[in-house]
Amino acid sequence: MNLDVLEKVKKKALDEHIPIIMDETLEIIKEYLEKEKPNRILEIGTAVGYSASQFVRLAGNQVKIDTIELDENRANEAIENIKNIGISENINVIIGNAVDILPTLSKTYDVVFIDANKGKYPVFLKEAIRMSHKGTIIFADNILYKGYVLSDYNKHKQRTAVRHLREYIADSIENENLNTQILKVGDGLAISIVK
Ligand code: SAH
Ligand code: MG
Repeated sequence: MNLDVLEKVKKKALDEHIPIIMDETLEIIKEYLEKEKPNRILEIGTAVGYSASQFVRLAGNQVKIDTIELDENRANEAIENIKNIGISENINVIIGNAVDILPTLSKTYDVVFIDANKGKYPVFLKEAIRMSHKGTIIFADNILYKGYVLSDYNKHKQRTAVRHLREYIADSIENENLNTQILKVGDGLAISIVK
């Protein structure tokens, strides 16, 4: 794969304020991907394909990723980027709303990366669990949302997102089938391992 192109994709995304995965968050996920060598990853929220491409680099060429993106322009840019990086064989971009797409998927995944609209995180968790097996790792990025989730004062604009992120945290911790950690790394990362 062409890592120079991947680096350019990262720079352009940062210039355009596209919220791609933070380096320190990727560092944590890297440990799991290098150890587990997953064959199948599900990503919710492709943006321009940056995190999915990094996952291929870290997991290895055996990996197949299904990734869902609502915004058609972004999805098409992702497809183009993935082609230029040379990993079209590894990544399948699905254009549409994950809320509608997820129920149509029926395979199981070794890793799930949730990184889309915060108001739907509890729904995404349910779908991730449905498509999991023993040992599946479910990551949820931005779980602490700039610290708002841990703060008791939230502006009206953030309130719904915060409520749903708290619900995700509660659901994932209380679920006896999951072993969950919430890390303060980056914008907050939830890691749940399916028992
Ligand atoms: N994972 C990417 C960043 C994703 S940013 C990376 O780290 O490189 C979040 C993306 O989720 C945005 O592009 C947004 O359009 C998309 N999104 C938001 N809600 C969605 C939904 N319901 N279904 C699919 N994609 C969604
Ligand atoms: Mg994110």
